[in-house]
Amino acid sequence: MDRIDELIRSMKQNDAQCDADKVRAAFEMADSAHEGQMRKSGEPYIMHPVEVAIILADMGMDTESIVAALLHDVVEDTDIPLEDLRRQFGDETAHLVDGVTKLSKIPFSSREEHQAENVRKMLIAMAKDVRVIIIKLADRLHNMRTIEHVSEQKQRDKSLETMEVYAPIAHRMGIRAIKEELEDISLRYLDPIAYQEISARLQTGKEEREKFLSQILRKFQERLQGHYNNLAIEGRVKSMYSIYRKLYVQGRSFDEIFDVYAIRVLVDTVNECYNVLGEVHDIFRPIPNRFKDYISTPKANMYQSLHTTVFDKSATPFEVQIRTFDMHHTAEYGIAAHWKYKVGVRQGKDSLEEKIAWVRQLLESQKDSVDAGDIIGSIKSDLTADEVYVFTPKGDVISLPLGASIIDFAYAIHTEVGNRMIGAKIDGRMVSLDTQVHTGQIINIITTSAKDHGPSRDWINIVKTSSTRSKIRAWFKKERRDENIAQGKAELEKEFRRNNILLDDKEMEAFLIRLTKNQRLNSLDEFLAALGYGGISLSKIMPRIKEQYQKLYKDTESEEKRLQKQVEKAAAQKPKAATSAVIVEGLENCLTKYSKCCNPLPGDHIIGFITRGHGVSIHTQSCSNVVGPMFDSEQADRWVECRWADVVEREEMFKSTVDIYGKDRPGLLVDISIALNNMHVPIYALTAKEQPGEGTAIQITFGIRNTEQLTHITRSLRKIAGVDGVERAMQ
Ligand code: MN
Repeated sequence: MDRIDELIRSMKQNDAQCDADKVRAAFEMADSAHEGQMRKSGEPYIMHPVEVAIILADMGMDTESIVAALLHDVVEDTDIPLEDLRRQFGDETAHLVDGVTKLSKIPFSSREEHQAENVRKMLIAMAKDVRVIIIKLADRLHNMRTIEHVSEQKQRDKSLETMEVYAPIAHRMGIRAIKEELEDISLRYLDPIAYQEISARLQTGKEEREKFLSQILRKFQERLQGHYNNLAIEGRVKSMYSIYRKLYVQGRSFDEIFDVYAIRVLVDTVNECYNVLGEVHDIFRPIPNRFKDYISTPKANMYQSLHTTVFDKSATPFEVQIRTFDMHHTAEYGIAAHWKYKVGVRQGKDSLEEKIAWVRQLLESQKDSVDAGDIIGSIKSDLTADEVYVFTPKGDVISLPLGASIIDFAYAIHTEVGNRMIGAKIDGRMVSLDTQVHTGQIINIITTSAKDHGPSRDWINIVKTSSTRSKIRAWFKKERRDENIAQGKAELEKEFRRNNILLDDKEMEAFLIRLTKNQRLNSLDEFLAALGYGGISLSKIMPRIKEQYQKLYKDTESEEKRLQKQVEKAAAQKPKAATSAVIVEGLENCLTKYSKCCNPLPGDHIIGFITRGHGVSIHTQSCSNVVGPMFDSEQADRWVECRWADVVEREEMFKSTVDIYGKDRPGLLVDISIALNNMHVPIYALTAKEQPGEGTAIQITFGIRNTEQLTHITRSLRKIAGVDGVERAMQ
């Protein structure tokens, strides 16, 4: 067969260490396994794996990848088991074939943007060996090349999937050659009218354009030829899809598109690239701000090149890309280029060491060996390690935090699915509802239509996400009021017994009503119901309940009680208005003051400390005076929960201090005070220390209303020329 000879030829050319015998053996096996099977085009099936293998050989992929490509549909479509492949071709091949087979089973449907992104992330996360994805891309490329033979609906489905899932993966891996071809074929089926229009426009000026390109190329030749050891100059019209994006996504007209034409100049070294750039700017006038240096700053997908857009005499703009031959290979094949280097094929005089320089640059890594894992790592770096991606039976991707259970999954689909769930299957097997889910699983939730069915209370302790938890609580809150009240009452009674809170009926009623008021609820039932569905956590409020019980019903003059009395006494003497900003949990109308060490502002998380004789002093929770004492058991009881009242009096001002670090420049202080004045911020104190040669340190205390305003002020101050940093002062 001609094509198998073509395969061997390409392999030998691109990979000096290839094992042609192994490839022939794989072909024999695949050929006999697919015997009698036909493609939709009427060709024998074996043509497909052979073409996929040729795509990979042209890219310079290794023998294992090519063998796996030849066998990639054998396990799925014939009766040869994976074990047979392993026995004959080894673990590595078997592993690759298995990976490709598994990827093929993932049901992709990419209706929404975020969905497609999840699929991409998951694909990369799942394929531990990145060659699996490269083989899959080649497989898809050949299927797209032959897509004219399938039904129209299938053409559109496959094109959409290719555009949304496969082309972006090829892009992320830097495999331009595959990416552009996938996009152009998909475009033809997704937007046939636009596709025709662009081809027609490109066709009309074809002769002129070719003349234009050959003229430009000649100018390049004349100027550059003879000055470089190796030089390649090529001109082309950019890809259909890139023109399409400019026309229809960016809304530009055909005449406005600068870079329909691209000239590419390839040379040996980076130095020569910059030389060529200089020469180009000498012959043609560059368009300002269109120069991009991706050599010093490579793109995330390893792409390196210089880009500039210039005019010729007729004022037709065109783009010039200048890069080394090696950079070009990487630009075409991206991550796939790595295998070529790995097996030691050399082009030109550069050593292997120089060839993998781009990998080094990319990883900014040590002088040790660079292995494929590192490169994949850099591609994966935008994946969150603590996310899992699972599927609904219809193929929608749901992303959940690591450790999420079936229950989280059900509620993530829809609250009603969660509420009506009675069972679940993972990959077709029944599982218990507390089972954790893992990336790649297909999960089927079994629901009931019985009206009164709902979640179980135990689920609250199983689920991973707080949103699931609150959905379950919401159900209990709404659907099970009587049950909640009974549950809340039972829990409260149990806790009271455990803590020796013993009261007669009348006292108990008065005490519970007091607790209800503390929680700002309207009725005792509401309080009990909230305890029942978990809206109020009993374990959290129990310490305060105990405290109140001690205070109200025990005579022992405890330290706690004495302190509290002091605070209450002080509070009685204090006008109410001044304390309106802070609510101290469990102590109504007590005297409060803002601590000087951290100057809390509305918006800060705060905590109070019961002082001797001076009421409750309010600190930010992050204040350095808070962290230590919290663990001091003797004082622990004196810390009380506080929060800002919902409506803080508009007029009330708080003192806040910031440190400003800046350059030692005349007028800086004046600019800062003008800026504060313009924001109507009163200054209470200002000190400035000038340290010649080191800059200025300024501390300002001013009056503001809340943290939001503080953020606004610090942002404005940072914009002042000479200001290097603004920070809230902490002692
Ligand atoms: Mn295939």
